[in-house]
Amino acid sequence: MSIKIASHATSNIGRVRASNQDSGYAGYQLFFVADGMGGHAGGDIASALASQRIAHVDNNFAAAEPARIALTEAVLDANRVLQTTVDAHVELAGMGTTFSGMLFVDNQAVVGHIGDSRIYLAREGEVRQITSDHTFVQRLVDTGRITPEEALVHPRRSVLMRVLGDVEETPTLDTQIIETMPGDRWLLCSDGLSGFVPDEIVNRLLTSKTDAFEASELLVGEALEYGAPDNVTVVVVDILDQATKTEHVPTARFVGSAANDVVIDERKGRKLLRLLNPRLLPELLGRRNDEAAFAPESDEYLDFILNQTMSKIRARRWRQALTYLLLAGLVVGLGFGAYSYTQTRYYVGVSNQHVTIYKGIKESMGPFKFSKIFTETEIKIDQLPEYQKQLVERTIGVASIEEAGRVVQTLRDAVVND
Ligand code: CA
Repeated sequence: MSIKIASHATSNIGRVRASNQDSGYAGYQLFFVADGMGGHAGGDIASALASQRIAHVDNNFAAAEPARIALTEAVLDANRVLQTTVDAHVELAGMGTTFSGMLFVDNQAVVGHIGDSRIYLAREGEVRQITSDHTFVQRLVDTGRITPEEALVHPRRSVLMRVLGDVEETPTLDTQIIETMPGDRWLLCSDGLSGFVPDEIVNRLLTSKTDAFEASELLVGEALEYGAPDNVTVVVVDILDQATKTEHVPTARFVGSAANDVVIDERKGRKLLRLLNPRLLPELLGRRNDEAAFAPESDEYLDFILNQTMSKIRARRWRQALTYLLLAGLVVGLGFGAYSYTQTRYYVGVSNQHVTIYKGIKESMGPFKFSKIFTETEIKIDQLPEYQKQLVERTIGVASIEEAGRVVQTLRDAVVND
């Protein structure tokens, strides 16, 4: 059966994070998402480097099996790129990335997956998850120790068991080959979507009468509605009958971190890997050369030119002052927005050796802290069993004061009386 593909990729930094460490790719036969992690920088560089390497495998293959081998090879190759990069740039140690992608060969979809990004298939009104998260909590679910609902709020839900990066020399990529047909809609997404937007909403959007562009933009919109605490990246791939008329023009497009170039920045004798967005440069510089002009040699004309130049300079100073004012206003506005958001959050931690509810978020920025003590409870941290004690010491994030109360009650119940 002959098929054709319409797709769209979109990525958003979200409402809380300082950088977008996600990458996404929508090409001709290949589609994927990569969610970077690690240190100060690192995560964005990891997902960009891996994405740019793996995108080379976007080719027409004669059969699914060689495509599966080529995709696996490309992913292992990307892993080596990350390792050699960390060898040369120690400041990037610990960086890594997930990868969840699909390579289409006629009506066969070759799926490759490592980490906790996800792939879903919507077929005939039913949506099912194709990949299984390589996370600590998924293992607990698989072995029947917690329910999928408990996994969603588990404090260690983001701990990954498998990932690309400088961890393992030959990480295992899950692969499968799945038949696809016209009418199928595939969703590839980072946990910035699947971790925060309820399944019912994602499923409703996937099965709605939208095109790939609308569906992916609406999904990211939902993530923003749900607070978007993490970067969110969505790739929607629609399988159409060859005869279907569509506006979609196949192209290859990176979104998120991979849309930037990774460059080496040498500064104070140290080499730093940085992301450079080439499209931003002309805007940042914002300079234009004045055209060379013919100048007659007379005092009158000189005065005229001088006056004109002075008024140009004055105008430019005004423009500059106005721009700085606008920028300062923007920074204050953004800061205030982010701060207000942090003050709607709570977490449970320790103060004076007691279990304590904090208002705000535990992250700080230099001397600025975004939390204050809300209530210090009577529960001494040493009264707790070791596991609960560790949880509290790492802090437990909660969405509301009611939830914080429930967490404290659970801890109170766990107190060891000796
Ligand atoms: Ca993420």
